[in-house]
Amino acid sequence: MAALRLWGGRSGTVMAAAGRRLGARGKHDYDLLVIGGGSGGLACSKEAAQYGRKVAVLDYVNPSPKGTRWGLGGTCVNVGCIPKKLMHHGALLGTAINDAKKYGWDIPLPVNHDWSVMAKAIQDHVKSLNWGHRVQLQDKKVEYLNLKGVFVDQHTIQGESSKGEKTLLTAENIVLATGGRPTYPSNVPGAEFCISSDDIFWLRDSPGKTLVIGASYVGLECAGFLTGFGLDTSVMVRSIPLRGFDQQMARLVTDYMTSYGTRIFWKCTPIKIEKLNNGKLQVVWKNLASNIEERESFDTVMWAAGRTPETQGLCLDKAEVRINPETRKVVVGDGEETSARHIYAIGDIAEGRPELTPPAIKAGKLLAHRLFGKSTQLMDYDNVATTVFTPLEYGCVGLTEEEAVRRHGEDKIEIYHAHYKPLEYTVAEREAAQCYIKIVCLREGDQTILGLHFIGPNAGEVVQGFALGMKCNATYSQLASTVGIHPTCAEEVNKLNITKRSGLDATVTSC
Ligand code: FAD
Ligand code: NDP
Repeated sequence: MAALRLWGGRSGTVMAAAGRRLGARGKHDYDLLVIGGGSGGLACSKEAAQYGRKVAVLDYVNPSPKGTRWGLGGTCVNVGCIPKKLMHHGALLGTAINDAKKYGWDIPLPVNHDWSVMAKAIQDHVKSLNWGHRVQLQDKKVEYLNLKGVFVDQHTIQGESSKGEKTLLTAENIVLATGGRPTYPSNVPGAEFCISSDDIFWLRDSPGKTLVIGASYVGLECAGFLTGFGLDTSVMVRSIPLRGFDQQMARLVTDYMTSYGTRIFWKCTPIKIEKLNNGKLQVVWKNLASNIEERESFDTVMWAAGRTPETQGLCLDKAEVRINPETRKVVVGDGEETSARHIYAIGDIAEGRPELTPPAIKAGKLLAHRLFGKSTQLMDYDNVATTVFTPLEYGCVGLTEEEAVRRHGEDKIEIYHAHYKPLEYTVAEREAAQCYIKIVCLREGDQTILGLHFIGPNAGEVVQGFALGMKCNATYSQLASTVGIHPTCAEEVNKLNITKRSGLDATVTSC
């Protein structure tokens, strides 16, 4: 059995209890111990260290069921936003090559995509980010401990190394930021043959013909870039795409994907997955509309069936940290506090928080300011903008049309909308049927904007600025009196003037 040790020196040094440099309050090894070195945890620990406090961050990555492992930085850096956006960009370049021909570029055909070249470049970039995070922690005097943390009591964490060495660490304050991991459904025999988003970005070779099961952010984004690389790609949708998003917009996203070449199996649910002698995976599923069992074989099957919060192995009961038994997320208050004093939770493991990097970072920083500075500022989780990086991107902020109607009633809501054609699409002769914008406003007075939804190129870049407007309670009158930048897609938002209620054709025809 591994020996239990006490840890308290600079990174990597094991010291005896007597030699420990204690935190400012003297009772514990650290003023702050953060479990989880992802978006939220890194931000919180670095910010806390700026106050001269003794801070450590524990980060440990359990390999995926397929054996994929990665370095410091959490989901976003290693198996989320960063490699995803780069692959998305890589796929869009393929579409741009087609456009380029119309703009006079003489490109010899066929143009092939080499997955291994792209994957290596992206993986090298991610590894450089892992290194960058280590350097930043060192510069900011945050101890990085590559240990898996488990609660012993409300102020004590047992850290375990990959070699099984155990270390006790005590802290005045503890922040949980352990994020989540892809869910492998337990009721589908053969689920273990599949990969997840934890693996796709680290594959050295092309996944080939792929089925993605699940139709939310992760599923649609991954299916989008796989299609863009010219792979035979299908998505299995059990109920609706992009649950929680405006459903009119979600349908436009999937309509575009269909025209882009992604096959979508609507209203289907997997029954079993078998490994065939030729190495392929045969998926048997039920078509819920026809009640018929269907089957097809694929080179790769990827689960995108949601994420499970990393609360299971933390022994949270020992610290009396309450979780929601249904979601398994940590129950938190407005100040990110848990049911246990001095223990906080931020990011994906905290109940009711958007599962996105920027809110995790902001919440982590604000928490550090409240703990060690004189701040009382709470994180504002309202109107957090987001973008789905599907082949045609969808960015939004605020309420969906459905939610606005539910909260205010149809009579109290005004929707302004437009179908538009990005200028660049004209010469390229690209289809623009799904390029669409709508804003959801209150109907009375100056018409406060409640939600803004944009489908088109660079949606994230377009929506970010409008999110600021919404933070300032922008109204339709203010939007309409703002002069646009020509010729852009974003100016179409300022030009919105047709209401859904009017039933008029909302197609923008001239500049
Ligand atoms: P994480 O970043 O998940 O970090 C948690 C860390 O804690 C991990 O390193 C984990 O290994 C470690 N850990 C867990 N348990 C322990 C333990 N017991 N001891 C020590 N360490 C532990 N968000 C966006 O804003 N934009 C995007 O474009 C976007 N794209 C995404 C694409 C994909 C495919 C996925 C899966 C997610 C994406 N997200 C995106 C979501 C974003 O990645 C997460 O919301 C964000 O990373 C959450 O940060 P976090 O700090 O809560 O946890
Ligand atoms: P979600 O929980 O949002 O969606 C899970 C999907 O899987 C749903 O379509 C669900 O269908 C389906 N599903 C679940 N179980 C099964 C099953 N047994 N068989 C078939 N389908 C199933 O998870 P995601 O992993 O897509 O995203 C997690 C979070 O990560 C998001 O909430 C988001 O905040 C974050 N993220 C952000 C991104 C960005 O900012 N661009 C990108 C990617 C992720 P049903 O609706 O029927 O339940």
